[in-house]
Amino acid sequence: MAYDLSFAREVYQHVEEGHWIQMCMQCGVCSGSCPLGPHWEFGPRQIFQMVRAGKGEQIMRSSALWMCTSCYNCIVRCPRHLPITHIIHGLARYSIVKGYVDPQQTTARFAGGIFWNNVISTGRVGEAALSMVLYFADGFGQGINNVLEMKNVALGMLKTKRLKPLPFRGKIKGYEGFKKMLDKAEELEMEGVEL
Ligand code: SF4
Ligand code: SF4
Repeated sequence: MAYDLSFAREVYQHVEEGHWIQMCMQCGVCSGSCPLGPHWEFGPRQIFQMVRAGKGEQIMRSSALWMCTSCYNCIVRCPRHLPITHIIHGLARYSIVKGYVDPQQTTARFAGGIFWNNVISTGRVGEAALSMVLYFADGFGQGINNVLEMKNVALGMLKTKRLKPLPFRGKIKGYEGFKKMLDKAEELEMEGVEL
């Protein structure tokens, strides 16, 4: 694959932790360690290679950017200590900013709004409420279909105590400080300050 660094330079400058891609030695440990690797259109190693090869549009439109579950397996194993998870999420976010992804696409909508709103309202993740908002985002009928489709997964999670069925316990201790911190981060981001 020929090198064309124009897109890479953009990524190094504007994508969270994107400059780390320069350190990738293409060993493939990350892709081999990723539990979802076989299901990605492109694995992390290939994404980083494509950044350096100038395949910007292909990457920005790829579903691969939305597959990372933040398990951190790749980060633990990367011999060059690249923050791979952060870079993948950074590229996904950048694809929204640049208008390559429909903000209503399910994963973009989840990451960009539903999850965020769930967390900032109390400082905790409320799994049951989170799932319900996501499932019913496209209307009541679709919501019922989604619930029926996912019921066995939900039952399994309840049995193993991985899902709390009742609404959570209100705001975290020190919520005001937490909210101030997020507001400040948002303000800095709007000003274009790299966080
Ligand atoms: S494990 Fe690290 S160095 Fe190896 S391909 Fe992945 S990101 Fe690059
Ligand atoms: S953090 Fe993301 S990219 Fe890394 S191994 Fe886990 S799912 Fe794959």
